[in-house]
Amino acid sequence: MSNIIDGKAVSQSVKDRIKVEAAQLKEKYGVTAGLAVIIVGDDPASRIYVNNKKKACEYVGFDSYEYALPEETTESELLELISKLNNDDRIDGILCQLPLPKHIDENVIINNISPYKDVDAFHPVNVGKIMIGDYNFLPCTPAGVMELIASTGVDIKGKECVVVGRSNIVGKPMSMLLLHKSGTVTICHSKTKDLKAECKRADILIAAVGVPNLIKGDMIKEGAVVIDVGMNRLDNGKLCGDVEFESASKVASYITPVPGGVGPMTIAMLMQNTLTAAKVNRNLI
Ligand code: NDP
Repeated sequence: MSNIIDGKAVSQSVKDRIKVEAAQLKEKYGVTAGLAVIIVGDDPASRIYVNNKKKACEYVGFDSYEYALPEETTESELLELISKLNNDDRIDGILCQLPLPKHIDENVIINNISPYKDVDAFHPVNVGKIMIGDYNFLPCTPAGVMELIASTGVDIKGKECVVVGRSNIVGKPMSMLLLHKSGTVTICHSKTKDLKAECKRADILIAAVGVPNLIKGDMIKEGAVVIDVGMNRLDNGKLCGDVEFESASKVASYITPVPGGVGPMTIAMLMQNTLTAAKVNRNLI
């Protein structure tokens, strides 16, 4: 039976560390980090994420500025707000909650957020910096996964790491971070010929697919570390990962549950990026 990685506990310790650093920043330099969160429309899931981000800001001692815009907001109105925030010294980080309504081009919005305030690390400049290993911000979900792996004490160096999924926000940056830690990385996707064989080689297996219970216990090497990024809502309303927890937990040495694994880490890492932005933008590091 595996050890279950407690994402809530790891995320709490990251937030507590940030809270201490935020207090020091205030005491030493009189600086309070500020995060602007933009939400367009009234998608209930997005609303929950935005509220959680606000709560996390309060907890660690950041100022949060919420911009709730109506569904019919135009792309140029949104760009105008972003330009204002890019030039507002109180704001260290800007996050535009995705998905945006269909009439707004997400890429245009991402490309117009200042790379210095891009706490999601989605801007092409930050994506490039991650590629070359010289970055300030890491995308929140992959960065959270790295913290979870670190919490197990397992050293990534030289390990077979298999990432299932190649999205720009999870799979690709995830693979890069594992590579920077000297893992031997394989990236799988929907055209991979023998997913079971690829997964079975993994010492560290990351599932970021969006298909409920795709990875079963018989696809996992004995003793592997298994991180399940998947967050899939089933018809009965329950959340479910990409890994079949029951069978996988009989084989893995460490495994994340869904919920309570990767999910809580994403917001903690957003707080980390906001703190970094406050320091970098004000030349404090
Ligand atoms: P995307 O849909 O953007 O990407 C999914 C990837 O999985 C694609 O690369 C796709 O391949 C691959 N894929 C799909 N089906 C298969 C299959 N049968 N076998 C192998 N690969 C397959 O999803 P995201 O990366 O945005 O998200 C992945 C999951 O992670 C989702 O469940 C999402 O909800 C969750 N998530 C969780 C977060 C958290 O905070 N915990 C944050 C972000 C995402 P191809 O490229 O060939 O189409």
